[in-house]
Amino acid sequence: MPQLSADTLLALDRAHVWHPYGPMPGTVTPYVVESASGVRLRLAEPVADGRRELVDGMSSWWAAIHGYRHPVLDAAVREQLGRMSHVMFGGLTHEPAVRLAARLVEITPEPLQHVFLADSGSVAVEVAMKMCLQYWQSTGRPEKRRLLTWRGGYHGDTFHPMSVCDPDGGMHHLWGGVLPGQLFAPQPPAGFDAPLDPEYASLFEGLMERHTDELAAVIVEPVVQGAGGMQFHSPAYLRMLRELCDRYGVLLVFDEIATGFGRSGALFAADHAGVSPDVMCLGKALTGGYLTLAAALCTGEIADGISRGEMPVLAHGPTFMGNPLACAAANASLDLLLGQDWAVEVKRIEAGLSEGLAAASDVPGVRDVRVRGAIGVVQLDHPVDVPAATEAAAREGVWLRPFRDLVYTMPPYVTQDEDVARIAAAVTAAAVAG
Ligand SMILES: *Cc1c(COP(=O)(O)O)cnc(C)c1O
Repeated sequence: MPQLSADTLLALDRAHVWHPYGPMPGTVTPYVVESASGVRLRLAEPVADGRRELVDGMSSWWAAIHGYRHPVLDAAVREQLGRMSHVMFGGLTHEPAVRLAARLVEITPEPLQHVFLADSGSVAVEVAMKMCLQYWQSTGRPEKRRLLTWRGGYHGDTFHPMSVCDPDGGMHHLWGGVLPGQLFAPQPPAGFDAPLDPEYASLFEGLMERHTDELAAVIVEPVVQGAGGMQFHSPAYLRMLRELCDRYGVLLVFDEIATGFGRSGALFAADHAGVSPDVMCLGKALTGGYLTLAAALCTGEIADGISRGEMPVLAHGPTFMGNPLACAAANASLDLLLGQDWAVEVKRIEAGLSEGLAAASDVPGVRDVRVRGAIGVVQLDHPVDVPAATEAAAREGVWLRPFRDLVYTMPPYVTQDEDVARIAAAVTAAAVAG
């Protein structure tokens, strides 16, 4: 039972609790969530004309693909709770982690063979980078330690991942001299269906050729760039990256933390292109949004290279590595996802969002409307008035969290057609208000 009145809770929240990308004290009053079920969040207090239930258009940031309080996920976590919530992973192992790792190897592209379980996406990206740098160090090329990416990306908020986030959106100017200096290519041309631009390809190749001696890896989000600006590009650019990385002896990292597990219409965005990276990062939807867990997968060649070095170990080991509760949730989430025709659900949501958002392109101030898989984006020609847009969406009965110039949605895959239509209407209303 709740023990704090909503007013007390909000006063303490404002005084003491940091929220993502928030000031202290907080300036915007958050909604208090009491519980959640299916695709609906239950609020402690009515908002926007008396609504206490909002359809979740965000899947809790890409994560809750099966919705909330799913009986299968609840049962899996409860069952694991009855055995153990956690044990250290150094010197010990357990079935939930082993099964999960074997399963991830099975469903990801073939050369990926080894799994490092991390406790958040940013840490998985850190580990992916460490794998690449250590591979070159161990194989006698320690000077290969810079990273190349394209602009418009997002890879997390710890320092090394921050260094490959979009330099404008990622606030690099705050961190001059602190962040390692990485290399940036322009953002790839927009459009999932756009043909490969040969000029872009030769520009990218020029960068790789000039810097091949110092480059450890290219790291990108494949097909969908998420928190860096919600842009989509053609899988042809992933094939380009694979070819260039092979030609110039540079490793390729795909950060699939947002795109993994079906969101873009393929199980992994790499599958759109039929290419395999040397390292792949997973997170967000991995546990169906139940618990924090992420993974960095690598090829046998990278693991062998690291193991031949003067320090023949991957020197990383989070306290909560391989947490059994999180692994049990992940195993159950994969059972649910792969036990159904998830691609049909994603396509159904794609069709619903395409139809529902079609009229948004006529809204004054809207620059672009785009849909890919179960992701819908309305981009404005100005920064969103976030409180006004949030409230407009809530009035339609939907929870949205716009940022920068973007009102966007990535609903749980279980969202039924009526609710998808409602979400699209709320995105449009938020674009009008914001
Ligand atoms: C969210 C995200 C991350 C960071 O994951 P956290 O769990 O928030 O640390 C990294 N890369 C991509 C592509 C993401 O979307």
